[in-house]
Amino acid sequence: MAGKKLTVVISQSQSKNPAHRDLEETIAADLMMSGEVEVSLVPHLYDMSADHSGMLFLKGIPGDIVFASWLYPRAAFWTLDRDGIRGQEGITTLHTEEDEEELSEENQQQANGIGSVEVPSRKIYCLDLRSFGDAEPYLDEVKRIASEATTQTVDLMSFIQGNPKQEQLERYLNPLPILNGNGNGTPAANGANNGSTQNGEAASSQNGDTEKVSRRWYPVIDYSRCTNCMECIDFCLFGVYGVDGLDRILVDEQDNCKKGCPACSRVCPENAIIFPQHKSASIAGAPGEIGNLKIDLSQLFGAPTALEQAALERDTELVADGREAVGMTVGIPKRQTEENAERDDLDEMLDDLDNLGL
Ligand code: SF4
Ligand code: SF4
Repeated sequence: MAGKKLTVVISQSQSKNPAHRDLEETIAADLMMSGEVEVSLVPHLYDMSADHSGMLFLKGIPGDIVFASWLYPRAAFWTLDRDGIRGQEGITTLHTEEDEEELSEENQQQANGIGSVEVPSRKIYCLDLRSFGDAEPYLDEVKRIASEATTQTVDLMSFIQGNPKQEQLERYLNPLPILNGNGNGTPAANGANNGSTQNGEAASSQNGDTEKVSRRWYPVIDYSRCTNCMECIDFCLFGVYGVDGLDRILVDEQDNCKKGCPACSRVCPENAIIFPQHKSASIAGAPGEIGNLKIDLSQLFGAPTALEQAALERDTELVADGREAVGMTVGIPKRQTEENAERDDLDEMLDDLDNLGL
């Protein structure tokens, strides 16, 4: 199995924006021409179901992955983790100036989460396709990663020890055509297959039928931050959360989540709950503060606190379901309402005022 190339996966945009398609296809074409890496296109990661062939392909990649998507890298990494595609977080140097600022702030804080489980030694590098409008920075970064990668090869036995499902093993042993360096769709020597067609559409199908994906909405847990405090399971009244065999929190019934509702992310004390499609960057998985939620300056003018906002959002969904609103009477953590809120809010307000230079 020696000599296996780095696999680059491009997860396509939800939108049909031609600029997005152009960027995806330019990166894919250039990498294919180089012949130095395997390249695949799959539909938008967040929208693929567990049995979508693009997802099965991702699960079958045994070595290092560069995963480029229209998501914050943290959101992409933990969505992959949720789908059982795990690895060590690969450090990329691809940052915008804005990222650098956020990261330097974040680096002063220590994530103290319970971490993921059964994480293999291979690396997963997540790149955000929204960072740059042209392909060059991404191509340079892939080349840099390919040159430094040390765990690109994984033999079959290591893969088996990773406890693959039957369908993954079958795919590994019975490869389908893959778009490789010369783009001619020859069978993949390493046993992987991909989720793309040669015209760049993310069709990902064994029988030629295009598998449709539709937009979904569910929380993704960042286990590097999650402390397993269970506040989210107490707060959500829609049965989304559960616990696994190790009594760890998990998103159990993701399709029970209410579309557009980010309420529990406001309740999580570690900012560990991500809604990758939310318009607010901090909820969508941007790098940023860990720990208690920062007060918004709007609170100076009487707007609801994060917890009040969460309770309002939850009530809206309860009423839409024909249930009784519960307000702040159920599942609201005392931690933020009583113990720390007053002190933290005051500190944060002063910080915010300082930042405004008043
Ligand atoms: S509230 Fe946040 S930190 Fe607590 S268990 Fe849920 S995701 Fe983890
Ligand atoms: S967003 Fe609302 S419905 Fe979805 S998991 Fe959180 S609390 Fe439950």
